[in-house]
Amino acid sequence: MSHGQIDLSTDDILVIDDAPDNLRILSTILSNRGFRVRKSLDGRGAITSAKVNPPSIILLDIRLPEIDGYEVCQILKADPNTSHIPVIFISALDDISDKLKAFKSGGIDYITKPFQEEEVLVRVETQLKLQKLQCQLIQHNNDLARFNRELEQFAYVVSHDLQQPLQTMIGFAQLLALKHQHNLDETSHEYLQGIIESGRRAQQLIQDLLSYSQIEHQAQKLESVDCNLILAEVLNNLQTVISAKNVHLTSETLPVITGNKTQLIQLFQNLIENAIKFVPSNRSPHVRLTVSKQDCEWLFEVRDNGIGIQSEDLECIFEVFQRLHTSDEYPGTGIGLAICKKIVEFHNGRIWVQSQPNIGSSFYFTLAELSNEGTNQ
Ligand code: ADP
Repeated sequence: MSHGQIDLSTDDILVIDDAPDNLRILSTILSNRGFRVRKSLDGRGAITSAKVNPPSIILLDIRLPEIDGYEVCQILKADPNTSHIPVIFISALDDISDKLKAFKSGGIDYITKPFQEEEVLVRVETQLKLQKLQCQLIQHNNDLARFNRELEQFAYVVSHDLQQPLQTMIGFAQLLALKHQHNLDETSHEYLQGIIESGRRAQQLIQDLLSYSQIEHQAQKLESVDCNLILAEVLNNLQTVISAKNVHLTSETLPVITGNKTQLIQLFQNLIENAIKFVPSNRSPHVRLTVSKQDCEWLFEVRDNGIGIQSEDLECIFEVFQRLHTSDEYPGTGIGLAICKKIVEFHNGRIWVQSQPNIGSSFYFTLAELSNEGTNQ
């Protein structure tokens, strides 16, 4: 078997038909192809057999004594141990209503009698391949999710442990600068300031990384949150920069939603901070916060009159460490929007941006309406 091919030889197939002749014909077709075949003449026996040892696929006759094929299929689909097994219905009837009933009761395909060998094999093998590809996809998704969790845990531990030695280095550099402020030449003084500034940038990076990796681990308690109070807190946190840059900020009355208060403060603050930061120094920042109701969710917009973003960068800026400028042009770590994305997605919302270079940007995000739920998961 070459790489990428799917091995079907280990599959076993449960065939259920009350006519021994049919069982024999199907069994021969499938065995000749190399499949292992189990046979059952009635529905109840087949259900027991499938539960004890789930087969790879089931071929199920519609007309059976006692309970018919539809009911057998429904019972198997209702049981988590057998719900994943693909069921192909077999019947002499070629009636559209029978086919519909077969699909509605959980069947995945339909074969009519008399059997055409090639058709039986193609339909069985197609469903087995689909089933295997789906299993592989689920397995890959689980592996990726586990890998992500491990990576985040690693980032958390490393960031956490780096904090203390970094603080010590900055502290000693500051002491040196203070102790020798009168006898250090200008170049040595610049070197020391360089150490202190780089240390502070590294501290900010660590703080942001810790926030990023902690979003899913934070207390997952959701509560009713008044977004007007969130905004008031954010404005209070940003008051120094707001008055220093002469920011003109307006907002509509905001709704009360269900969410995590700490995370929502971070979300609003990151977006408003960016709306203020990415504005040319010769322009005073204008930030407008609006909200509208869309079906069962609120659509928020944070609009600025800043430098804007080129269309090819509109998606990548939500990834960790994606920055379009150097720290000298605009300070930052490139984690803020990745944090926003995680927070919005944690609240089952979406976030995106529209922008016109040199005119301004609008960051949009959706949050669900107030609900009675106490927790997210
Ligand atoms: P940081 O602000 O620390 O650089 P972010 O993750 O918040 O990191 O933003 C990533 C990048 O997206 C920024 O470096 C900037 O290039 C761009 N960006 C974010 N917000 C805006 C905005 N309001 N206007 C223009 N560019 C923006």
